[in-house]
Amino acid sequence: MEKNVIGGTIHFEGVCMGDCKLDGNRPDPKGAYQKFASKVQKITEYNPEFHYIRFRAIGNLEIDGPNNNWDGFPYEDFEDSRPGKGYQSFIGKKAFIEHSSHSIENAIGELPGAFLNSFHLPDEFRGRRYAELDSFESKERQKVLAMDNQADGSVEVLMAIDRQLSPRISRMVDSNQHLACSMGTNIDHSICTACGNQAHYEHQYCAHIQYAKGGTHLIPARDYRQLITAKVIRPEWLPKILSTDRDVRDVLEGSTNRMITARAFEINKDLSFFELSVVANPAYIKGQMLEKIATTEDGSLQLVDIQKLSDTEMLVLGIQTGAIDVHKLSEDALYATAKELEIKL
Ligand SMILES: [Zn+2]
Repeated sequence: MEKNVIGGTIHFEGVCMGDCKLDGNRPDPKGAYQKFASKVQKITEYNPEFHYIRFRAIGNLEIDGPNNNWDGFPYEDFEDSRPGKGYQSFIGKKAFIEHSSHSIENAIGELPGAFLNSFHLPDEFRGRRYAELDSFESKERQKVLAMDNQADGSVEVLMAIDRQLSPRISRMVDSNQHLACSMGTNIDHSICTACGNQAHYEHQYCAHIQYAKGGTHLIPARDYRQLITAKVIRPEWLPKILSTDRDVRDVLEGSTNRMITARAFEINKDLSFFELSVVANPAYIKGQMLEKIATTEDGSLQLVDIQKLSDTEMLVLGIQTGAIDVHKLSEDALYATAKELEIKL
């Protein structure tokens, strides 16, 4: 049985447990497991007419910086849970080749699932979202970003490619060739990192973005500091905008008028994703296929958001996927798991 326990999502082949021998008085864990299996989020039915590919679709400004097109995407805009916004807006959209999304006829498949590799928050911020944390007066966001083993905050998207609609891509998948991807998004506005200009339409671009996107500019530290004071540029973005740590310090402390070097790029706000394309040259260098999801024996395909699972649910899922050998678990551990699940379920 293939193991598919992976970073963002887990998919598993039906339910295959219940081999355990327990005392007659103890509850049979099988029932609890089956209740659990019926509770997991089912994203899509496996259809053999499609290839299912999991892609890393987009990374955020805080971890990855701007992409090769000099576009940056703040993590808080991935988290945005308003209808039609944030990472979930990928779900239900179409897949294309090289952004040919001007016509739906060009679609090669669908995007049935998306997943955010959410930032872990320290215990003191429990119950809050990253977007709610402050970075101007207190350094809450900076604290999150500095955490050891922090998640990369990228968005993963499941692409279902129709074999008939794209025989060429289908052949590439069949022959295990690697695919790269690139996303399409609508934005509300963008912010220029050199001057803080906000543009809702192209004719509103400043000269930095219109003529010299990606170029560097020498700016007095105190002048740049005004963008922070006005809360146009966030302090946690500075390491990806300014050239050196000293530049960042000088801007934040505001004690000098030394010239600092700022890279001019666009920070894109209020994201609404509308497509994911298979491309030859991705602007986001990590925009790559992560995994081809193989055919399952019983023809079902389920994906589970593992970050929403409790430790016990994780254990059960581990058993279901075959990642944990049920025979190697102590009877007590098995019993405790089953008992806790009965209570929880
Ligand atoms: Zn500008």
